[in-house]
Amino acid sequence: MASASHTEMIASVTDQAVAEVDAAQNEAQLDLVRVRYLGRKGLLTAKLKSIGDLPEAKRREFGAAVNAAKSLLTARIESQLLTLQRVSRASALASESVDVTLPGRRNDRGGVHPVTRTVRRINEIFHSIGFDVAEGPEVEDDFHNFGALNIPLDHPARAMHDTFYVDDDHVLRTHTSPVQIRYMKSHKPPFQLIAPGRVYRCDSDVTHTPMFHQVEGLVVGTDVSFADLKGVLTYVAQEFFETDLPLRFRPSYFPFTEPSAEVDIGCIFCEGEGCRICQRTGWIEILGCGMVHPEVFRHVGIDNEAYTGYAFGMGIERVTMLRYGVDDLRLFFNNELTFLSQFR
Ligand SMILES: [Zn+2]
Repeated sequence: MASASHTEMIASVTDQAVAEVDAAQNEAQLDLVRVRYLGRKGLLTAKLKSIGDLPEAKRREFGAAVNAAKSLLTARIESQLLTLQRVSRASALASESVDVTLPGRRNDRGGVHPVTRTVRRINEIFHSIGFDVAEGPEVEDDFHNFGALNIPLDHPARAMHDTFYVDDDHVLRTHTSPVQIRYMKSHKPPFQLIAPGRVYRCDSDVTHTPMFHQVEGLVVGTDVSFADLKGVLTYVAQEFFETDLPLRFRPSYFPFTEPSAEVDIGCIFCEGEGCRICQRTGWIEILGCGMVHPEVFRHVGIDNEAYTGYAFGMGIERVTMLRYGVDDLRLFFNNELTFLSQFR
């Protein structure tokens, strides 16, 4: 009966061990169970060591029973380990999963600056009637910015430009007109172009900023007249403001054009009735223009007997303010998002 009770005891220890394995909630607990039964000082290991107390005849049977119990327990522990690993992986995946029903994070959309928007629009309108778009440097020499445009050193018109000087012979261009000069020197007429870009004047108050944008226009050919100039500017103004507004040409003076004119559009806010923006006149000034002065042609080597041309220059910020109803020039330059986001 001694051997039967030994075998039964092993069976009962094994049952207890299996129950503990099955109850283990994680790998650490499972390892504790393994140590308790199969470790060097474990309960089953101890049983095997007690084999010497048994009579010779029983040892073989007892040893086999303990070894069977050990391998059963080892297999059970391995399978429980796999189960626990599977469960912990699944729960990790579940906690890291993406809830596709959550609202997304908003991506704020950028927008084109209103001045850039106006430049693009003006480029498009002129391009549609066959004008080329030209560019030139912002640091100009005296000849291109002044001399070639019939503004010699002692000319009083220099006082009209509050110029930033880079050195004795170079300035930050005060207008886009030097691009005309560069274009005329490198191309043979006939041609028609516009030159949009940044210009600089040493001037800053509510209606002036040290840097602003202009677009220059130039048409040269054998039979170009003031009537062509009126026709083109009327078409462009009406396209730009998207309404059949009237244009008014007033005699004016510029050193590089003769005759010269300033151009008003019928007020787009009151349609000529008279309001605060047009100062009750019904008209708003938008640009200066005229027929290219023969002296300018002479400076760039174009035959002023054979060719005539017209030129015009317009402030981009000014027409942008009129088109979008912006009443403060500085809004274009202080990077205020609440203002800019209206132009998305
Ligand atoms: Zn008005």
